[in-house]
Amino acid sequence: MHIASVGVSKFCFLLSVALCCLLLLLIPALKPPARQVDPPQPRPRVGPRPSGRSRPAGVSASPSKLSGGSEDEGEVIRTELPKNRNDSPKTGLGPQHAGPLSRSRPPDELELKDIFIAVKTTRKYHKSRLELLVHTWVSRAKEQTFIFTDGEDKDLQQRTGVNLINTNCSAAHTRQALCCKMSVEYDKFIESQKKWFCHVDDDNYVILPSLLRLLSSYHHSQDIYLGRPSLDHTIEAAERVKSDGSVSVKFWFATGGAGFCISRGLALKMSPWASLGNFISTAEKIRLPDDCTIGYIIEALLEVRLTHTHLFHSHLENLQKLPVDTALDQVTLSYGGFENRRNVVSIGGFSLSEDPTRFMSVHCLVYPETEWCPKPKAGDRN
Ligand code: UDP
Ligand code: MN
Repeated sequence: MHIASVGVSKFCFLLSVALCCLLLLLIPALKPPARQVDPPQPRPRVGPRPSGRSRPAGVSASPSKLSGGSEDEGEVIRTELPKNRNDSPKTGLGPQHAGPLSRSRPPDELELKDIFIAVKTTRKYHKSRLELLVHTWVSRAKEQTFIFTDGEDKDLQQRTGVNLINTNCSAAHTRQALCCKMSVEYDKFIESQKKWFCHVDDDNYVILPSLLRLLSSYHHSQDIYLGRPSLDHTIEAAERVKSDGSVSVKFWFATGGAGFCISRGLALKMSPWASLGNFISTAEKIRLPDDCTIGYIIEALLEVRLTHTHLFHSHLENLQKLPVDTALDQVTLSYGGFENRRNVVSIGGFSLSEDPTRFMSVHCLVYPETEWCPKPKAGDRN
């Protein structure tokens, strides 16, 4: 009897141990599945745009062809200016991590103050180029525009209140001097805590509402490098950063003359090769100019792809060909160039002698309320 009851309690004990084990095994299966915070974006699909999406008029979907190559050369990612956040540049062609905002991520409520705009200039162009920018678009973005130059100009600073930064770099138009300026631009951006870094030259007009609209369709924590190549193919450099130069790398770069933008997330990753003077030594190693070095760091070292966009313009292209009705949708414009002073956007407004660059005319279309813009005559629509 006694032996039997010991047997039963032993059996009960073993049974409860087995039940506990079973429960422990079942716990992970009963747990609700973990929420995927941010699913990786699918790899870009390179091919024809899905039908049904309207392209802003005049924004070409084909890459620039400055040297007559094939459109299929390299992997070209095309971007168009989205009409609003829900119509982001989701051509399905974004680079690996640069898709439109995913649903799980709150939209980036971007304001102009979140963008760091660096303008590269030199002392000799303060009067002939910079004054025009300060008079036009820079006046609408004074707090977030930083002008990187190579000499003092207290008069300009006091008179206009712009952020003028003397880089103390050489005023020569050499690779070293230009890279020195880019290096200071990068460090100042990192210091600024702003969400986006955009670089332009002193012969660019930035259409600020278009810039804001374009950047709003991405998140600054994504890896985004936006710009326009001046070539229709990649460039090649001897790999002297990761190896001894015996192999070469091919990569795209956005031409500095049309301007480009980099998200903060990506800019932070560039730090080992770009911060605190490292940019200059990286450029020296590959022996390429500043904008190529940016492309090299991003595409070749970080393996992030340039998002090609046709909304940025340099005077390397024929600006007269830009359809007038799309001019204000563009992000940057330019003028002239050494070889052709008449290379300007064909937009109406001031006479060519009053406004040879067309920047004042563009400005009056973007901000008609500006006090020096012609007042609409009675009877004019709007
Ligand atoms: N630049 C400079 N130092 C110079 C000459 C030019 O920093 O000695 C700047 C200039 O202010 C502009 C950019 O480099 O922002 C490109 O210069 P430019 O437009 O004259 O040449 P391109 O566009 O033909 O390269
Ligand atoms: Mn230029």
